[in-house]
Amino acid sequence: MSDITGDSMLKKEQNKSQLYLDLDKKWTAHNYKPIPVVIEKAKGIWVWDVEGKKYMDCLSAYSSQNFGHRNPKLVKALKKQADKVILTSRAFCNDSMGTAAKKLCELTGYESFLPMNTGAEAVESALKIARKWGYEKKGVDENKAEIIVCENNFHGRTITIVGFSTDPDAFSGFGPKTPGFKVIPYGDTEALKKAINKNTVAFLFEPIQGEAGVLIPPKGYLKEAQKICKENNVITIVDEIQTGFCRTGTIFASDHEKVKPDIVLVAKALGGGIFPISGVLANWDIMDVLTPGSHGSTWGGNSLGMAVLESVCDLLNEEDFSKRSTELGKFFVKKLKLIQKKHSEKIKEVRGKGLLVAIELNEKARPYTEAMKNHQPVGLLAKETHEFSIRFAPPLVITQKELEWALEVIERVFDEVD
Ligand SMILES: *Cc1c(COP(=O)(O)O)cnc(C)c1O
Repeated sequence: MSDITGDSMLKKEQNKSQLYLDLDKKWTAHNYKPIPVVIEKAKGIWVWDVEGKKYMDCLSAYSSQNFGHRNPKLVKALKKQADKVILTSRAFCNDSMGTAAKKLCELTGYESFLPMNTGAEAVESALKIARKWGYEKKGVDENKAEIIVCENNFHGRTITIVGFSTDPDAFSGFGPKTPGFKVIPYGDTEALKKAINKNTVAFLFEPIQGEAGVLIPPKGYLKEAQKICKENNVITIVDEIQTGFCRTGTIFASDHEKVKPDIVLVAKALGGGIFPISGVLANWDIMDVLTPGSHGSTWGGNSLGMAVLESVCDLLNEEDFSKRSTELGKFFVKKLKLIQKKHSEKIKEVRGKGLLVAIELNEKARPYTEAMKNHQPVGLLAKETHEFSIRFAPPLVITQKELEWALEVIERVFDEVD
């Protein structure tokens, strides 16, 4: 009899998650500290774990799932292309790359696109382009090029990129650092002016620092930085990998200040959360430094990814994600500030732009993110960033009603966790 009681069933089911957590621990590198939830299914803003418990996804794979998990239009494009051709390499051409690039360029106002796969690759590609541009067009002496970056930056995990990170967790143990980078405080245009010299080829920065905890620079920073760079013949490289494609309420976060950087880096939501696609957007006077043999990627521009990209562009043209993100973001921040008022000893600050939002705590955030996950019967998934902040970045297809539910859960968790 005891075998069919709910108790033993529940126990067995609970072991299911643990089984996968144990497999991960035993067989994969320990380079993350995930919230212990094992997801097996997703749709729109919702995900389900292996026990069938439902959660609202308020991280969106670090802003990759802007259009909702498995957006039907994107999945359709993916499946259709999978039945035709997937990968040819760039040794040959395919019928998807140029078509998709044209749509992306028309949507964003750039003349050319370099397709890559992951965010870090897009960043690396831009660094190479900037250096080559510096030698060939600006006339910087060979091997002298300097690129300016900001404190608390996050641009990815390659050996060069972590070399200019100011986060010891990211760079420790990975030296020696790639030379040619100079770090200045974020949001400080005076520091930028001082850092520029005749060898400076580019200034690489995030329009809002997502990983650092959604740090928004002072008003006018982007515009002023762009002006300083222009005056000094320095390329602006804006990393929109996390902020792009309506996350902050405009296609790019730089649009808030009507700034058009020389180079824009895109990834994450560019692939609609269903395929890794990244790349570099620039005009030809910069992009033309790349010549055959100087750069490449086996999967860059592959048919499957490019079909998805085309479909992402169509989606952005058809639906007004900017408006949704702006309005819902305002609502969300306003309500979070009420929770902050109630729990001012716990919550230090609420900040955000569009649906890229963070609350900074006076204490460690992990107990709160775990409590949100454990909420019954439906949980809420968000992730702490740098210990003291919790980032909320739900898919942009979320509704106000669903956000209200999220706010109830967040409030309850702040009421209950000590
Ligand atoms: C995620 C991210 C990257 C790196 O992208 P990967 O695809 O993980 O390599 C770079 N810059 C920013 C701002 C990011 O958020």
